[in-house]
Amino acid sequence: MPAVTWEFLKRNLTKINLAEKFCLDLIFPKFCFDCGKEGSWLCRACQKKIILVKTQVCPGCGRVSRQGKFCSKCKGKDLAGIMVACYFEEGPIRELVHNFKYNHILELGDFLGQILADATLENLTLKKDFLVVPVPLHWLRRSRRGYNQAEILVKVMSEKLSLPFDQVLRRTRRTKRQVDLRGSERRENLKNVFEFFPGKNIDGKTIILVDDITTTSTTLLECALVLRENGAKKVWGLVIAKG
Ligand SMILES: [Zn+2]
Ligand SMILES: [Zn+2]
Repeated sequence: MPAVTWEFLKRNLTKINLAEKFCLDLIFPKFCFDCGKEGSWLCRACQKKIILVKTQVCPGCGRVSRQGKFCSKCKGKDLAGIMVACYFEEGPIRELVHNFKYNHILELGDFLGQILADATLENLTLKKDFLVVPVPLHWLRRSRRGYNQAEILVKVMSEKLSLPFDQVLRRTRRTKRQVDLRGSERRENLKNVFEFFPGKNIDGKTIILVDDITTTSTTLLECALVLRENGAKKVWGLVIAKG
């Protein structure tokens, strides 16, 4: 039995029933990350400070491009484009993603998953052949953290959109954190790191590949390569924001 610390409780909040959760809220009240108001992690007024991306751009050159498609000059090879839900540098989104990912406040997944669902509807017309796929974490990192944040986002988002989801990718080895590396090192770091899950079938599917934040798109490109090699018709990247 692990020691019942605040960290432990936050990690396990989703497993705790509502009555217990009510008591927890009394003992550990929530405060808005942005303005400090008591009652929720993000109050209604601060939710409005999140700026949604209305004009998508080519991930390669930054020119305006519908649905965040790669333009004809940049070409995403296996990745059709990257849809970005909101701007990272403005409003409280950076704070939310950080707390969701590193401070184990899993309840934020509902809010962030909704943002991703909205961005999907804004950019794509939903079709029957859609499948939502999270970017995988290495199993060791996943078990240390207790969850894969992209999986939580995908579950919430799929439910809101009534789309199926599946984890069809896995990591073959542990890698350094992409944020700590530079351009060519990032590509080298992720080379052949993603692998298709044996027995899964994505023939003819249009994949929405979900990650929380993208910086250079390397992760999404590498995953898209494996998905396309294994039968995906098209792969769209979808992220909360560009970091
Ligand atoms: Zn607030
Ligand atoms: Zn371009």
